[in-house]
Amino acid sequence: MRAVCWHGPRDVRVEQVPDPEILNPRDAIVRVTLTAICGSDLHLWNGLNPTMQAGDILGHEFMGEVVEIGRGVRDLRVGDRVVVPFPIACGACFFCREGNAALCDNSNPNAEMAEALYGFSSAGLFGYSHLYGGYAGGQAELVRVPFADVGPVRVPPQVSDEQALFLSDVFPTGYMAAENCSIRPGDTVAVWGAGPVGQFAIWSAYELGAHRVIAIDRWQVRLLMAETQGKAETIDYVEIPDVVEELKQRTGGRGPDACIDAVGTEAHGTSFDALYDRAKVAMGLGTDRPHALRQAIQACRKGGVVSIPGVYGGFLDKMPMGSAFAKSLTIRMGQTNVHRLLRPLLAMIEDGRIDPSFIISHRWPLERAREAYQMWNDKDDDCTKIVLDPRQEWPSPAGLRPL
Ligand code: NAD
Ligand code: ZN
Repeated sequence: MRAVCWHGPRDVRVEQVPDPEILNPRDAIVRVTLTAICGSDLHLWNGLNPTMQAGDILGHEFMGEVVEIGRGVRDLRVGDRVVVPFPIACGACFFCREGNAALCDNSNPNAEMAEALYGFSSAGLFGYSHLYGGYAGGQAELVRVPFADVGPVRVPPQVSDEQALFLSDVFPTGYMAAENCSIRPGDTVAVWGAGPVGQFAIWSAYELGAHRVIAIDRWQVRLLMAETQGKAETIDYVEIPDVVEELKQRTGGRGPDACIDAVGTEAHGTSFDALYDRAKVAMGLGTDRPHALRQAIQACRKGGVVSIPGVYGGFLDKMPMGSAFAKSLTIRMGQTNVHRLLRPLLAMIEDGRIDPSFIISHRWPLERAREAYQMWNDKDDDCTKIVLDPRQEWPSPAGLRPL
């Protein structure tokens, strides 16, 4: 089959690889009909995760058709159209039963690696390094889905692939980010990052009762999307660099009730702390660039909540813990517990409350993955979300060759 393989920083290739096989009675094989590139994939593309190996298949956002099931999978049939959560979860451990599938105790075969780094291991993830289990990802024609009796959810025929795909990650991630804010009616929520996670966080914040949402980014197409689709106010942080002061001004001097960091470890910035982060990471002396998170902590009102869906990987430097302490902030974060949220959010799509496909800007064949990663990283061509279709033919009718 064809798959998107990682070969080193900023080097992904579409290659011919062996088809996946059923290894465990609870496995299924899914033929991918649509897959997406996530902001999280950029952290791998940029080489921030030292546990990637050449040839690893990328991709944790995918859906498709079940083509084979192990003998232990009772509630799926060959031919079912399913969307698959990005964390892999057993469904039976303490954490899974609590609804925290992303913390599953049984799905990371490399748990000792994570334990050495983090104290404990969380769940294995599709296509997301050996630290998270070394599972092959879904930017491929076929993918093996472990614990297939727990993760995949059937998609009703009236919901299209484009509408269902983001239930695998970014829609629940935005929702959980807003949920973690414990929003009360009338609250003001600030969201750093107007990428897919930020856009769904904006929608979810209103859904959960926020009165105002203020989105912060620098890309006009994303800020415009936040305004038109999300009904958010916006701050272009290039035009208004003092984001903390601006938020104070816009909230009568009190600060937002909740602040969501939907940027994560690769924050852009030109202030001293952002340049310092960049230099440290470039020299291998630091792991993360938490510029947006520092702002979120600084801007949040006293007694407020900072919610962090943005990914961090290591040991963060120059964190304003004094500010968080002095202001009695609550800080919540983590990989998304997709399993718990997928069905309720699917019901909202079926009810017509949201059509998550609004974030898609590009629909390309899998063969163009190399070009797509570069564009996604550079935010070129006004891209807001790139989906890849492994069945779409390439070269295109126009006769263009793959890069
Ligand atoms: P994305 O790269 O499309 O969006 C990030 C946005 O942040 C961009 O629009 C960028 O311009 C903006 N940004 C950069 N620096 C900024 C700054 N200083 N202030 C304000 N905005 C800034 O990515 P995405 O797919 O939306 O993902 C966002 C984050 O969420 C990533 O870190 C990703 O890894 C993470 N994520 C986490 C989970 C989870 O389970 N918690 C799931 C999916 C994605
Ligand atoms: Zn993702």
